[in-house]
Amino acid sequence: MDAVIDIKGIPECNVCEIRDGKLVIGSGVTLNKVAELNYFPLLSRAVKRIADHTIQEKITMGGNLTGTIIYRESALPLMVSNSKVIAVDRNGERKIPIEYIYDREKGLNPCEIIVQIVVEERFLNLPHVHVKRTKNEKIDYPLITISGLKDGERINFGFSGVCEYPFRSYKMEDILNDRSIPIDRRISKAIPNIPGRILEDLNGSVEYRIFMLHTMLKEILDKFEEEGELDG
Ligand SMILES: Cc1cc2nc3c(=O)[nH]c(=O)nc-3n(C[C@H](O)[C@H](O)[C@H](O)COP(=O)(O)OP(=O)(O)OC[C@H]3O[C@@H](n4cnc5c(N)ncnc54)[C@H](O)[C@@H]3O)c2cc1C
Repeated sequence: MDAVIDIKGIPECNVCEIRDGKLVIGSGVTLNKVAELNYFPLLSRAVKRIADHTIQEKITMGGNLTGTIIYRESALPLMVSNSKVIAVDRNGERKIPIEYIYDREKGLNPCEIIVQIVVEERFLNLPHVHVKRTKNEKIDYPLITISGLKDGERINFGFSGVCEYPFRSYKMEDILNDRSIPIDRRISKAIPNIPGRILEDLNGSVEYRIFMLHTMLKEILDKFEEEGELDG
């Protein structure tokens, strides 16, 4: 049976607060509210680059993470900070890593909704990058977007616009963080480990996306290894 459900009236879906050492964001919270409260600057930066300010007032975190538009850019800061989502269906509740929602086997079942997103407080103010490249205008769907978060000596990376879903690849990260080899070679070794088919559409061919990805990763790694932080 088809059903239309408005979850914005559920109190748990509307919280956005630090509680017991964790940032808890309800899935009905709008992108504007996340940016205004600014508990997690990397996430604020990411949501401010989605659509425009008027539309950010309407789009919810749950809608951006699970809607039909494939980019789901708010997932990137959540992936690089090892965030979890609390999902509920009639059988109960489960707390799963954010990347599971894009996994066919471990992902949401058709009757399950995301109630909240949980980020450990220690990740909120780490050095970070968020770089979004579009084909033409500043406000557009991404050609490629990358979030990076420096956790100790390791930089965690999340990608959108490369495949049909946002992803974080631990294999690519291991290579990109291997300081025993030069940055250009690290990137050339990492790219063949992209975990899916590379997008080919009107925004860009596979070759152009690989070129752009290489350029962006080089900029990010150069800056991070020099300064530790970069605005996209
Ligand atoms: C003009 C425009 C520009 C955009 N640009 C970008 C962009 O640059 N980058 C980007 O990443 N996205 C972009 N988007 C996509 C946008 O972020 C949302 O994905 C989309 O608009 C849906 O958001 P919504 O809050 O209205 O969700 P809704 O329309 O309410 O929900 C969409 C679907 O998501 C599912 N859903 C919603 N909430 C939940 C939940 N809590 N649990 C489980 N399932 C749920 C449901 O299946 C629902 O049908 C853009 C959208 C528009 C309209």
